[in-house]
Amino acid sequence: MTLLKAQNGIQENMNSLPRPPETFRVLIADDEPDIVAVMAFFLTQDGYRVDKAYDGAEALRLIEENPPDLVLLDVRMPGVDGYTVCRRIKSNPETAFIPVLIITHVRGLDKKVEGVEAGADDYLNKPVNEVELSARVRSLLRMKGLYDEVQAQKQGLEAAVQQRTTELEAALVKLRNLDRLKSEIINNVSHELRTPLTQVKNAVDLIEGCTSPDEMSALIAAAKNASARLERLIKNIIELGSGLSVNPEPVSVSDAIYQAIVAMRAVHPMNGIRIQAVLDDDLPRVYADRAGLVQVLQHLLDNAVKFSPDGGKIEVIARRDGLKDVWIAVRDHGIGIPESEIDNIFERFYQVDGSTTRSYGGMGIGLSIVKLIIKGHGSEVKVTSARGKGSTFSFALPVVEDGGRA
Ligand code: ADP
Repeated sequence: MTLLKAQNGIQENMNSLPRPPETFRVLIADDEPDIVAVMAFFLTQDGYRVDKAYDGAEALRLIEENPPDLVLLDVRMPGVDGYTVCRRIKSNPETAFIPVLIITHVRGLDKKVEGVEAGADDYLNKPVNEVELSARVRSLLRMKGLYDEVQAQKQGLEAAVQQRTTELEAALVKLRNLDRLKSEIINNVSHELRTPLTQVKNAVDLIEGCTSPDEMSALIAAAKNASARLERLIKNIIELGSGLSVNPEPVSVSDAIYQAIVAMRAVHPMNGIRIQAVLDDDLPRVYADRAGLVQVLQHLLDNAVKFSPDGGKIEVIARRDGLKDVWIAVRDHGIGIPESEIDNIFERFYQVDGSTTRSYGGMGIGLSIVKLIIKGHGSEVKVTSARGKGSTFSFALPVVEDGGRA
């Protein structure tokens, strides 16, 4: 008893459809309306959806418009006969996978062979027996359902492979870009370091054979300038790599600004560029890392000078911003920054013009240091800029509560 149940269970499982019957559509093609009606009745009872065609041409049109899951084909139909319809279905890659069940009065072996040769998957003799029809249809639909499942899995896999390929290609492009960026950075940094080093070396070489005291002191000054620049560049790189410590204390904003301007003038050729300090009277002191604030201003001034035309004007502005902050800004009227680049310029080693033929020096690390220092103060650097009109870099620092004046 139990064994019989189990056998029935297995049998049922083997015959079960992989999806609900109402998701299958069966096309019945027969020129006898009564037979179509009877078969449609049986199939609807089994839960399938049914389409009907009354000649071969109509069947082909319906199959092309909306491919069914199974075609029941009468062999003898006016115009295009069942074998021809079957051949067309099976020779078209779009429809070749649709099972075809040939239904015929013809009992001869040669006709069955013709049906098989036309690509039919099974055949049934008229008059159609309900149980036999139901069993054959179910078996063919089960096959079609499994085929659909495999196709869906295949498509899923193909989509996954395609997506993975796209991701890998994108990663490869990224990697290549990174590689290019790395070479650019190395070229750029070594160029920036080599320039002042060569200047020191040349000055020292010339000093050896120099007899004029004036010339000698000019050469010594040149060597000192170049070595100060070299020292600054190396310090920047080290700071960027090791992180910065910020030790806030009450600091006079105006002192820091003047200190930065003086330091700036000592190391940078000014080419007639004027720097003007525009400071509020009664500026309160701020909580800041003294050296860090000077360094920030120096970097911002360095860029402002570098990207200004000869004879241009730069303003360093400090004004009270509400009760709690002092707003500090460095404004130039130079080349400006395209809007699309504003978010990038604070990235390490980033330069708007990163080409080897660029006309401005620098290593692309000044602003990342500025950002780090200002972030260390719990504040943020803001930029407003217009191409060809100039840029303003600004940040706010907290006022010292005792209201001490700068
Ligand atoms: P760099 O040493 O190249 O100046 P920074 O980190 O200081 O490096 O600046 C990064 C880039 O941002 C610069 O190369 C430049 O393209 C752009 N930039 C910074 N400041 C200015 C400015 N005041 N005017 C125009 N462009 C600027």
